[in-house]
Amino acid sequence: MDIAVVGGGIAGLTTALALTAEGLPCTVFERSDRRSAGGFGIQLAPNAGRVLDRLGLGPALDAVAVRPVARELRRWDGTLLARTELGEAATRRYGAPYRLLRRADLLRVLAAAFPGPVVHGRRCIGVEEFRGGVELRFAGGARHRATAVIGADGLHSAIRGCIAVDDERPTGFAAVRALVPADPGDEPRIVVRLGPGGHCVTYPVGGGLGNVVGILPADADPATFFAADSPLAGGVPAPLLDRPPLPKWHRGRLAVVGDAAHPMLPFLAQGAAQAIEDAAAIACALRTTGGFDAFEAQRRPRVERVVAAVDAGRHGAPATLPDHDWIYGC
Ligand SMILES: Cc1cc2nc3c(=O)[nH]c(=O)nc-3n(C[C@H](O)[C@H](O)[C@H](O)COP(=O)(O)OP(=O)(O)OC[C@H]3O[C@@H](n4cnc5c(N)ncnc54)[C@H](O)[C@@H]3O)c2cc1C
Repeated sequence: MDIAVVGGGIAGLTTALALTAEGLPCTVFERSDRRSAGGFGIQLAPNAGRVLDRLGLGPALDAVAVRPVARELRRWDGTLLARTELGEAATRRYGAPYRLLRRADLLRVLAAAFPGPVVHGRRCIGVEEFRGGVELRFAGGARHRATAVIGADGLHSAIRGCIAVDDERPTGFAAVRALVPADPGDEPRIVVRLGPGGHCVTYPVGGGLGNVVGILPADADPATFFAADSPLAGGVPAPLLDRPPLPKWHRGRLAVVGDAAHPMLPFLAQGAAQAIEDAAAIACALRTTGGFDAFEAQRRPRVERVVAAVDAGRHGAPATLPDHDWIYGC
């Protein structure tokens, strides 16, 4: 029996890679039939980059990612409020580059590096512990026995539901996203535009494309919230949900990581980054102690601090980079 990782997204695949690097065999079970070809972008902050670089993924990521030279904070009308340099000096400072890429490219890089099995079309619907292990049940009747289960199955996690009972809750915000042609003359940078009640972030993702994400009140209409010529004006908003803090991220032989453990609003672009940090921590804890206590003890204070910083931005401006050395640095 090996370790079962439920969910083949960013958290699940990184956890599988980290377990493999620690010499712990595992199998990933993913509910979708095939890997997502979803095209929107993702910012990979240096704290995530350090983990992925240590797993040997730096060259593969650099082949598909863009390194921004700066992050700018602007008013809705374009007035520059602050600019933080993110070039070589920041890479040296944080020990890894800031990278911008398409989610599908990130998932492809993670999946290509994982030597173990990823079983697609397996939606986990429950787990039962027995003496010495755990049996997973899947929709359609399949079963699998494992020594332990790591739930990396996102906001609507089935594994979280085996640890505690709670519900998703609305945050009052929604997101609209679009991919647009990038201006080849532009220097690669992240631009955050702050507006009343929402904000908009643009950045290049490689392949001649730029990612645009707008955050707006859940009851607002993008057609009137954004300028008529904005690529977001015709978009369909997706409500942003989260969950109440989970008192414990593990129970017995089950644990959760990433959004399954601690979903957060995307205001600091840290959801995936924290999931990636979880992956390294849980693999190290399992190798060194054989259990999940050390994982939670190490990760919980940091994740709670990040979530608190994100929540502080709910009613104000997203924070600027220099205040967040503690997130990006070692
Ligand atoms: C608009 C927006 C922008 C964002 N931008 C950034 C950013 O720039 N940088 C950043 O770090 N974060 C960002 N985030 C947050 C980031 O997207 C999430 O934190 C991250 O995707 C969480 O990864 P995960 O693997 O934990 O969960 P998910 O991405 O939800 O993956 C879960 C996986 O589990 C599978 N699954 C679900 N249920 C089951 C089941 N029962 N059985 C088997 N498989 C199952 C799913 O199919 C999926 O593949 C953003 C979020 C939003 C909404």
